[in-house]
This record gives sequence, C-alpha cells and structure tokens, in this order.
Amino acid sequence: MTTDDSESQRSDAGKWAVVLLVDDQAMVAEGIRRMIADEPDIDFHYCSDPRQAVQRAVELNASVILQDLVMPEVDGLTLVRFYRNNPATRNVPIIVLSSKDDANVKSDAFYQGATDYLVKLPDKVELLARIRAHARSYLAQKERDEAYRSLQKMQDQLERMNQELERSNRELHRLSSLDGLTALANRRRFDETLEQEWQRAGRTEMPLALIFADIDFFKRYNDHYGHQAGDECLRTIAALLQHMVHRPADLVARYGGEEFVLILPDTTDEGALAVADKILHRVNELAVPHANSDIADHITLSMGVASILPQDGESAQLLVSRADQALYRAKERGRNCVEVALPVAPLRMAH
Ligand code: GH3
Ligand code: MG
Ligand code: MG
Repeated sequence: MTTDDSESQRSDAGKWAVVLLVDDQAMVAEGIRRMIADEPDIDFHYCSDPRQAVQRAVELNASVILQDLVMPEVDGLTLVRFYRNNPATRNVPIIVLSSKDDANVKSDAFYQGATDYLVKLPDKVELLARIRAHARSYLAQKERDEAYRSLQKMQDQLERMNQELERSNRELHRLSSLDGLTALANRRRFDETLEQEWQRAGRTEMPLALIFADIDFFKRYNDHYGHQAGDECLRTIAALLQHMVHRPADLVARYGGEEFVLILPDTTDEGALAVADKILHRVNELAVPHANSDIADHITLSMGVASILPQDGESAQLLVSRADQALYRAKERGRNCVEVALPVAPLRMAH
C-alpha cells in the first residue's frame, strides 16, 4: 500500500523528474504510484494531506505536481491557486487529475492555472508521456532562467568593476597631472592644456595669454631659511596664484622649481597685464619675510606677460618663449615687476 512519501528519501542520480501526487484517496494514489514508481527516471512522492501540499512541493523541488480536484479539506483548484501564488512553485507544471470529464471543470482548472488535465485513472503511457514532457520543458526553462540570472549578475558585476576602473583611472589621471608639492597643475598638464588652448584660440580667433612668474632670489631664501621653509613658501605663492584667476578655462601651473605659469584664454596682453599687476600687488601685501632679497624685505615675484592670436603654422612655443623673454627683461629691470612681451616682430606682421 502506498504510504506518504513512499521510498522518497532514496536519492537516485538517474531520476531527473520529481513528481508529487496530492490526493486524499489512498486507492487512487496507489493506482498512480504503480504507474510511475518503477520508472527509472521519475522520483515519485505522495502527499495525502492537502494542507501540506504546497510546503511538500517546495521542499521536494517538484518538477511536476499531480493534483486531485475533489478533496475533503481543501478544494483542489484552491490549491492550484496557492501553488501559483508561491514564488517557489509559481511555474511548476500542474496536471489536474479529475474524476470528471467536464468542459466547465476543465476550463475552470486551466483558468486557475493548471497546466494539464487528465481524467482518473489515466492511461499509464499517456500519464508518463505528459509528466516527462511537462517536467522537461519546466526544467529547461528553469535552467534558462538561472543562466540568464547568473549572466545578469555577471554583467552587473562587470559594470560595477568598469565603473570602479573608470573612477580610479580618472583619479590616476588627476593625480598624474598634479604637482605633488603645490597641488597645482604640473608641467605635463600645462603642456597639454597649452596645446589645446592654442588650437582653440586659433579656431575661435581669440588671443591666448601667458604669465610667467618667478620668485626673486629664491635660492637665497632656501639658503637662509632652509629647504622646508622654501617648500612652504612655494605652497603659499601657489595658493595665492590659484586665487587670482576665476575663469573656468584659466589654468595655474607649476612650470618647474620656483617658476609658475598662468594660461589665460581669450585674454589680450592688457588683460593679462592687469592680472599680473594684481598678483604683484598681492604678493607684496602678503609680505612673506625674505631677509636676503636685494629688492625688498619680503618675497617678491618677477613676471613676463605675452598674448598672441595664433596664426596658421605657428606653435604654442612661440607664446612660451615670448613670455619667457618678457620675464627675463623683468629680472633685468630689477625684479618685483611685470614686463609685457614686445610687439610682434615685423616679419610676422608682414605676412
Ligand atoms: P632670481 O631672482 O634670478 O630668480 O634668482 P633665484 O635664486 O630665484 O633663481 P635661481 O634659478 O638661481 O634659483 C632657483 C632656486 O629655487 C633654486 C632652488 O634652491 C629653489 N627651488 C627650486 N625648486 C625648489 C623646490 O621644490 N623647493 C625648494 N625649497 N626650493 C626650490
Ligand atoms: Mg627665481
Ligand atoms: Mg627660476
């Protein structure tokens, strides 16, 4: 005689379809069991208590449920709804076993979510064929769903990794373009930006200005106050310079040593001179003590200013060398002053 969950704990690798029969009548159950239990590929289970049916189906991971319709405690169709409402059994194929070959009952069963409908007792061959067909398509779908989910998970992970990589690349790029001592743009960034702005100025036919600023008698400052104080002074001047420009496209960079450079797009030499004068004024106001300067008792800057409207065939180095020459003249003139690059050479004017 069939008992609940007959021989069920035996695990058998060949049994790929797990069938749960839910029926209150032991006689029917025995009839079905005889049709199924000896099949080598089917793991047959029986539950006589409809109140435990959903839980059993979940526990067993059933691949097909054979559901009796008329039971004393719970109506079979109510159970069908329960299976359908439970996420674990939502898609499990349900073959309704009914004693009635009635179109209305059939249609109701399908409406409630039944997958198939057989009249008791079904033909063995037909029952087995249907069990296998439903179980196979259910398991295949489940496999596809799982593969899709793990693919999705991998894609999410990949996406997160990519975002992290992008973030650290941006950070790396930011760090590699900063000067370690002053946190201003470094020489590399200056070169890149100058090139870009030079191209842009050529396209938009707007002048591009540079200010070169060099600390006066800085070697003596280092010699007198020590290298650490020298570094501190460089940071102070760097911060001051950074505060003197406000346009988004302006760039303050450490050119090297105690030399700084400002890129000022869309700026004429008058405009750049005004900025340089303001800087000169502020540095004097700041009055960082410098006991060994010949020009003042505090830190001062000399500056060279140049502004060019780029012409075809010219390189940004022209602007650099003109600002540099202007700086040289400021040093010659006595330091703590600004010089503007001389008017463009006649040769350049000629063409
Ligand atoms: P000038 O007025 O003609 O510009 O004279 P100067 O002494 O400022 O110029 P010079 O080029 O002879 O010396 C620059 C000095 O700047 C050399 C070095 O002691 C100092 N210096 C360069 N880089 C650094 C730095 O990173 N930290 C410190 N503390 N000093 C630096
Ligand atoms: Mg100097
Ligand atoms: Mg120098």
